Amino acid sequence: MGLLSGRKTIYVDSDVLVIGGGMAGCGATYEARYWGRDLNIVCVEKANIERSGAVAQGLYAINCYMGMQWDENQPEDHVRYARNDLMGLVREDLGYDIARHVDSSVHKFEEWGLPIMKDPETGRYMREGKWQIMIHGESYKPIVAEAARKAASKVYNRIMVTHLLMDKTKANRVAGAVGFNVRTGDFYVFRAPAVIVAAGGASHIYNPRSVGEGMGRTWYAPWSSASAYALPILAGAKMTQMENRIVLTRFKDGYGPVGAYFLHLKTYTENAYGNEYESNWYENTKELVGDYIDRHPVPTCLRNHAILEEIKAGRGPIRMVTKEAFQDPHKETIGWENFLGMTIGQAVVWASQNIDPKHTNPELTTSEPYVMGSHATCSGAWASGPEDYAPSEYQWGYNRMMTVDGLFGAGDTIGGTAHKFSSGSFAEGRIAAKAAVNYVKDLGKERPKVNEAEYENLKKVVFQPMENYEVGRNEIVAGTVSPSYLLPLHGLQRLEKIMDEYVGGIGAHYMTNEPLLTRGLELLGMLKEDLDNLGAEDLHQLQRAWELQHRVLASESVTHHTMFREETRWPGYYYRGDHMKLDDEDWHCFTLSQYDRESGEWAMEKAPVYHIVD
Ligand SMILES: Cc1cc2nc3c(=O)[nH]c(=O)nc-3n(C[C@H](O)[C@H](O)[C@H](O)COP(=O)(O)OP(=O)(O)OC[C@H]3O[C@@H](n4cnc5c(N)ncnc54)[C@H](O)[C@@H]3O)c2cc1C
Repeated sequence: MGLLSGRKTIYVDSDVLVIGGGMAGCGATYEARYWGRDLNIVCVEKANIERSGAVAQGLYAINCYMGMQWDENQPEDHVRYARNDLMGLVREDLGYDIARHVDSSVHKFEEWGLPIMKDPETGRYMREGKWQIMIHGESYKPIVAEAARKAASKVYNRIMVTHLLMDKTKANRVAGAVGFNVRTGDFYVFRAPAVIVAAGGASHIYNPRSVGEGMGRTWYAPWSSASAYALPILAGAKMTQMENRIVLTRFKDGYGPVGAYFLHLKTYTENAYGNEYESNWYENTKELVGDYIDRHPVPTCLRNHAILEEIKAGRGPIRMVTKEAFQDPHKETIGWENFLGMTIGQAVVWASQNIDPKHTNPELTTSEPYVMGSHATCSGAWASGPEDYAPSEYQWGYNRMMTVDGLFGAGDTIGGTAHKFSSGSFAEGRIAAKAAVNYVKDLGKERPKVNEAEYENLKKVVFQPMENYEVGRNEIVAGTVSPSYLLPLHGLQRLEKIMDEYVGGIGAHYMTNEPLLTRGLELLGMLKEDLDNLGAEDLHQLQRAWELQHRVLASESVTHHTMFREETRWPGYYYRGDHMKLDDEDWHCFTLSQYDRESGEWAMEKAPVYHIVD
């Protein structure tokens, strides 16, 4: 154990531990200080909160703002909107809770220096769409991070959290977390009675469209590595709606966003022959989902469905008609700036492929699936709801506490609440932190106790891939393929292939069924066995190894959920070939899972959907 003997263990005690310093984590850290003036608040982040998370490179719009000060929308309107988009299934209590608090978070961003565009005539924030406001958002994340940095007792950057720690004095209670510094290799033991997981969503669990020289280019951030799900899953927390993976329609090859194009530039789509195509698929879609197709706006997944069917009918590619809008110099500027603020890669792709949207209508495509809880999708942990609004069945403790005592979540981590985006994730972080502080205060002097044997064993487990590499490396003289270890990249590609082919990825046209899912689970099981033999040549690869471990566990969860829900609720996101229709009679419900880390078994159950807003 040469590698371990020299490794320092650093102990950090806090009252509230925030894992992940993205939008939700920064919101949680900020708010924890407000309610817990004398508490020790620690934020731990695998990158650097200055530029970490999905918002790292900036945004052009804040996608969740009610505008209650001008009576533009009310929280109930947002609940109706999200419910409609998710084909009826959202946690209305949680969604309402975010919607009623989100505006004040946006006002804070402005106070802290974020430039928000204003309508020169009304003085109101400039709207891109009903829910979106436009910002000069290059420095969005540094501005938000500054507030968190000032609020935290300490921010620990460059530490990848690998596992949560459980209390040895009380079952089902969290006691902290462990991780390692990706630069120094020090092992960290964080002890805390309240832990808020805010570790983002999951990309790269499905084979991406961009492979080979384009590898790493994805829509959701490539560093969103499913820790938000794996950490609670391993601790025994219940998860919900993990089958509700999202597929995005985006500009081809660069994943450039289309929202500003549709909403602000008023561009539209057509098939390869210049024809409108959505109406061709109206009857077909109605047959599958009934009157959900008649809702306004048409749910996101159903718009994907029309694109996929039109392409399958041989009339692809689908193109965005930009030629008309781009004749207006103002709109042309907005069209380009939209990428420069957020997805510069799309502008580069167009330049490299001789696409000038003023003269060529660019192609759209549908992405590989992602797992997340803050966009037009709602995978994540099953959380207790707000005291004044949640039905009793959704309340077993503090707001945003998972089914494990002391374990809270926000942003992509929490399931059932789509359309929170950057601002809603920040607001939810604040909500979770307020509840976490109350939890800590209610504990009084009582503190959970970490088990020394548990974290000492985890120290060995965490660094094992480096040991595997050091020993196994001697068996080969050149190249990367070894008889005794698996590199994280190879493991990742194996995972992506399994998920793609068996669990409804792009290669299978998002189609799956029970036999495919069964085989997928067998193959995932074999992959899990092989993960004991991961080899990491350095600390960077060790981080990759643990990101892969988290992705595999989240993928297993997605597969079990997809198998359990015997219907196709969201055509355009995925299809169960053996249950092609939406089935409101049996499946107007949430799916819940719970993992038993001792047995490796998953227990599945249904939970009711309560419609609180009319
Ligand atoms: C391409 C793209 C475009 C978007 N466009 C918009 C938009 O226009 N408007 C809008 O409002 N929203 C937009 N969003 C959505 C918004 O970015 C997310 O909703 C929001 O960032 C989610 O917040 P979060 O805190 O849950 O996750 P994140 O902000 O991603 O933060 C997660 C954090 O956890 C850290 N982390 C992960 N794992 C670990 C670990 N094991 N240990 C320690 N730290 C860890 C990560 O490094 C990261 O800092 C967009 C997202 C993407 C990817």
